[in-house]
This record gives sequence, structure tokens and C-alpha cells, in this order.
Amino acid sequence: MTDDAPHTQAYAPGSGTQIGWRVCDKCYGLFYANNQSFFGVCPAVGPHHWVTSLLYGLGYGTVNLGLPSQSGWTVCDKCYVLFYFEAQGSSVCPAALGGPHNGSYSFNYNLPTSQGGPSSVPTQPGWRVCDKCYGLFYGKDRNFGICPAAGPHHWGTSDNYCLYSPPSVA
Ligand SMILES: [Zn+2]
Ligand SMILES: [Zn+2]
Ligand SMILES: [Zn+2]
Repeated sequence: MTDDAPHTQAYAPGSGTQIGWRVCDKCYGLFYANNQSFFGVCPAVGPHHWVTSLLYGLGYGTVNLGLPSQSGWTVCDKCYVLFYFEAQGSSVCPAALGGPHNGSYSFNYNLPTSQGGPSSVPTQPGWRVCDKCYGLFYGKDRNFGICPAAGPHHWGTSDNYCLYSPPSVA
């Protein structure tokens, strides 16, 4: 965990593709699962958890995997969920007792907004931004999963985001 030192920089510098994201089978949020010692904090209780999740990858900085994308997505350093940074002030983090997510130490991730990119970049549609907590979740229904703002996550006017899922290596 990082400390609470003041910062002036919105995003960590750098560009690349980061593999290692998973969907939590408890809350249905997208979380960073490559830190084997810490899987974040789940609104359903305990850490996030996955068993059958596909493996997902995100481009950050200037890398967008050749897909139409929306930038400004960050990983919360408290709960490890991907959320929309512009809405940080209105967001709700399960690790903060009702307080907001913190994406201040994160790369600037680019989230694909449609399919139809290169065939070498397989994507899965159906991802939505929750209009209660501002985390990204797998939105099979408008009300789905478990939201840190109470009840299930909910999406109303969200884009249908399409996550890059590389051929599984693990
Ligand atoms: Zn979870
Ligand atoms: Zn958070
Ligand atoms: Zn939510």
C-alpha cells in the first residue's frame, strides 16, 4: 500500500500493455490480479477473488491496442478496481468506509469502447461503468454484482466497453 503523501501528478508516466486483470466472481468488478500478495478489497467482504475469469489486458499511456478507446481510467491503490478518474470525487471505494477511490498513483489506462479492431486483438463486450461507485464491472444486467455504494452495481448510459482478452497463458 502506498502512503498518503501529497501529489501533484494526475497519472503515472509511461506507456505499454499490462496483462493480469481479472473479473471478481464476488462483486463482478475488474481488478488487478497480478500482485499475488494482495488482491485488493472487495465490497462483498475480504479480498477480490477469481477462479474462471478470462485474462484481460489494458493499454496505458499512448498504447490503445488499435481500438477506439476512452482514456482517463485508473486503478485504485486501495481496492485494486479500475475506475473512471474524472469521477473520483463522486466515487465510492470499498476500502475507504464510504470514501472515494484513489487513482493518483495509477497509469492512465485506455478502455476500448467498441469491437472491430484487429483480429489479433480479441475483445469481450459487456463491460459497464457503475453510476454509483464509478468502477468498471461486467454488466450482464443493469443491476449486477455487488457495489460498495450499497446493493448491486448499476449502469444507465454507460458505453459498452470491450476488454482485450489475450489467448490464455495461465
Ligand atoms: Zn470483488
Ligand atoms: Zn477503491
Ligand atoms: Zn458500483
